[in-house]
Amino acid sequence: MKIAVARETAAGERRVALTPDQVARLVKKGWEIYIEAGAGEASLISDQAYEEVGGTIAGDRPALWQNADIVVKVAVPTPEEIETLPEGAMVASLLNPLGQPEVIQQLTAKKITALGMELIPRTSRAQSMDVLSSQAGVAGYKAVLLAAATLPKFFPMLTTAAGTIRPAKVFVIGAGVAGLQAIATARRLGAVVEAFDIRPAVKEEVQSLGAKFVEVQLEEETATAGGYAKEVSEDSKKKSQALISDHVATADVVITTAQVPGRKAPILVTDDMIARMQPGSVIIDLAGEQGGNCEGCEAGRDVLVHGVTIIAPINLPSTVAIHASQMFAKNMATLLQLLIPENEINLDFEDDILDSVCVTHQGTIRNQRVKDALQQMTVTV
Ligand code: NAD
Repeated sequence: MKIAVARETAAGERRVALTPDQVARLVKKGWEIYIEAGAGEASLISDQAYEEVGGTIAGDRPALWQNADIVVKVAVPTPEEIETLPEGAMVASLLNPLGQPEVIQQLTAKKITALGMELIPRTSRAQSMDVLSSQAGVAGYKAVLLAAATLPKFFPMLTTAAGTIRPAKVFVIGAGVAGLQAIATARRLGAVVEAFDIRPAVKEEVQSLGAKFVEVQLEEETATAGGYAKEVSEDSKKKSQALISDHVATADVVITTAQVPGRKAPILVTDDMIARMQPGSVIIDLAGEQGGNCEGCEAGRDVLVHGVTIIAPINLPSTVAIHASQMFAKNMATLLQLLIPENEINLDFEDDILDSVCVTHQGTIRNQRVKDALQQMTVTV
């Protein structure tokens, strides 16, 4: 079994798909792991560290990819990378199928078997492969640090000879994986934290982290059977906005993480709410890449609106490259071991994880959810 670990080429991508600890595990299975020279550099992992655990450093990408059974990487393959993959090759990485349908088109045309790491089902069995969770946790943590570094105030309460400082007030909107990690991090820094989510099921988790849960009573079901948020009616959105308005206005920091899978992120923080916030306050919009939860946010830019700094970071996990890579690599290595049970690739579509994760195969789009969504977007593949 030959596995090639790509050196990432996408701008700003510092993570690597397999770290030396995971390479060591896979080498013990008798697999050959080839790492492109410098693949770990941006995560502070030297070529030597890979060699010490039995990995082989390779320089010539086309030859390496030609001979690999599977190429593993973090970021969505670029058009040039797909060009370099031989016809019928297998690649596992993030694919952003709904955000970049042209990539799916190119992979299909080249008959690539592409495994999309974001399509790992959210089930207990798949938890150790779930990159959405591992990377959302990193983003939630870093969002709070960004906010703390930008806010011209302390987070904790301080009692000093120069007087008593009141703790900062942080309001987290969306208490999924990223939101819960943001709550925990803000609490560790000593802030007073409130949180809102349309799924009432998260109330206890929010409270157990020491935050106050802001609750809304809606006349519709807000979660799917799988535990995800549903897109709610305009009426429910208005009700939520009315409820959160005062909490936004009095917060020093607002962190928004609200997302509905497969949909544009809902706008929850309006310009009117921002106008009521104190100048110097900070909003971190983690849904920026999906359109944003906050009116006026611009993905990848810091903007100043009514004296409030709105930051909508792109690829925040990459800024915590060492641990984000470590977690991504654990997720990837676990998936590889499911895919390759006896030293041979067994793409068993009876397995719900492999069935869901395989987006393109033998010139077709296999994942029904992706297929339906792309058809709706009227992209002809
Ligand atoms: P996500 O990134 O899709 O959404 C983030 C949060 O935004 C969610 O909590 C959602 O309820 C909330 N949200 C959506 N619309 C909103 C609105 N209009 N107003 C306020 N909040 C809104 O979700 P996620 O963090 O990836 O995961 C959500 C849930 O999925 C988890 O809490 C958990 O129950 C489940 N999950 C299960 C597993 C597993 O079993 N392996 C792994 C991860 C997550």
